[in-house]
Amino acid sequence: MIGNMMFQPLLISSLIEHAAQYHADTAIISKNTDGSMTETTWGQISKNSKRFANVLQSLGLAVSDRVATIAWNNHRHLETWYGISGSGLVCHTINPRLFPEQHKYIVNDANDKVLIFDKTFLNLVLSIKDSIPYVEEYICLDAYDEDIQRAFPEVLFYDDLIALQSDVFEWPDLDESKASSLCYTSGTTGNPKGVLYSHRSTVLHSYAASLPDSFHFSAQDRIMPVVPMFHVNAWGTPYSAAMVGCSMVLPGPMLDGASLVELIDRYKVTNALGVPTIWQGLLNAAYQSGSKLQSLVRNIVGGAACPPSMLQAFKDDFQCETVHAWGMTETSPLGVVNQLKAKHSELDESQQLRLRYAQGRPPYGVSLRICHDEKCTVESVRDGQIPGHLQIKGHWIVESYFDQFEHSLTEDGWFDTGDIATLDEDGFMQICDRSKDLIKSGGEWISSVELENIAIAHPELELVAVIAASHAKWDERPILIAKKAAASSVSEADVLAFYHNKIAKWQIPDRVIFVDAIPVGGTGKILKKDLREMYGSVLLEELPA
Ligand code: ADP
Repeated sequence: MIGNMMFQPLLISSLIEHAAQYHADTAIISKNTDGSMTETTWGQISKNSKRFANVLQSLGLAVSDRVATIAWNNHRHLETWYGISGSGLVCHTINPRLFPEQHKYIVNDANDKVLIFDKTFLNLVLSIKDSIPYVEEYICLDAYDEDIQRAFPEVLFYDDLIALQSDVFEWPDLDESKASSLCYTSGTTGNPKGVLYSHRSTVLHSYAASLPDSFHFSAQDRIMPVVPMFHVNAWGTPYSAAMVGCSMVLPGPMLDGASLVELIDRYKVTNALGVPTIWQGLLNAAYQSGSKLQSLVRNIVGGAACPPSMLQAFKDDFQCETVHAWGMTETSPLGVVNQLKAKHSELDESQQLRLRYAQGRPPYGVSLRICHDEKCTVESVRDGQIPGHLQIKGHWIVESYFDQFEHSLTEDGWFDTGDIATLDEDGFMQICDRSKDLIKSGGEWISSVELENIAIAHPELELVAVIAASHAKWDERPILIAKKAAASSVSEADVLAFYHNKIAKWQIPDRVIFVDAIPVGGTGKILKKDLREMYGSVLLEELPA
């Protein structure tokens, strides 16, 4: 017997329709590329997304054609997202900080028909234009600009295009399993691979991400996704925000700490999301300016391990609850979020804080397991102690990569994340490392994350990374690359001494290398691969001949 309830496909257009119907006057505040601010509403975003859907229709695109964006977090970009996916096309967000060869590869691989770009990326687009023959139209995501028109005569301007269109558009009644959006992994090994989300996976992900035990979004919030819209769809926040009808601040291109502090204070942001390097910059700027980040109730930290010292700093100095989360492009990205359970209220504050260091536990819709090997011939015990290969399955987890027909799962249907982690009985998962970042010293594993967490708590270090350096005797040994805080005269010996009694002696890094800057990618993550290329042989070079 089949249930007697209505069936409605889970479509991205239903999210913007909901926001337009019930939260039309809720503010969307956006920093433009030139630094000016635009204040609009869900009602206006919805109207412009329909105008843009009419634009796309006038270009003669067919269902599931790919439309690419290379743009900052701003209101126009948000409008294009709903216009593209809502009308049955696939929104392909591109990370501007990839190499030109990777840009060419992914635009061609995705077979993008339209390329929408922010002014900032004009030169990037001009430099690849002759190598991306399938792109038929280029749209500059801004008002008409004479200089851009001169440099790129065939370009169209977003504001001109939507001004000519009606704000009436009937969203098509699509199959919910149709593709809605496409993100490429950063391709640290080999070519980037596309992850093709569906309307259904996106809407289910939005439900889960908004829950109190996840990102905790509500119609009373004003959220600020600092995480770029090209980094796993800004962790789905533009969809969750429309679902719950919260207000948003979209920070545009200026992601330095001072600019973010200013936005939080001026617009009373209650909840912000970003990677640890962003929060490090924001903390420094808040200390400098004396801001207390008064409106900020919580911040979500993911994309890389959140150092315990950061959790403590937000709590002690800003009364802000820092919530650790983990995910990846292949998981939409929400995999786990660290929210405690009722039974944990019996623990004292330091024990609670200790629990919050972990990446967190899965919401309904995601399952995790830890295995001895990638094929998972043996599943590990859930004791929170023994690390293994982290595998995941669920409604918004990848099955196969874009245009690759064989699926990417284990024989019994799980996705191997490439992360090494522990798992406990409550589902709390703690990442030890990415398998490729683990340091294998004399047959023992050392977690680079653990060593970084200790170093970043040193008051005179601003940014740190631990990598494996090749070693003649031990195969690999950890070395610490560190950027000092301004005016610091801390020495290598001081930093190494800081490790004493915090970790087993044999795990302490062999060297500390001070640098002026640590390379960070477009999504704000430290580029350890680059660091390994630069410093991976220093211990070999030091050995006597
Ligand atoms: P990229 O390869 O560009 O980093 P993703 O954004 O998909 O692409 O990265 C996913 C990976 O980031 C995860 O597999 C994991 O190694 C790491 N990661 C994400 N969140 C965390 C976290 N909270 N703690 C530690 N590592 C994390």
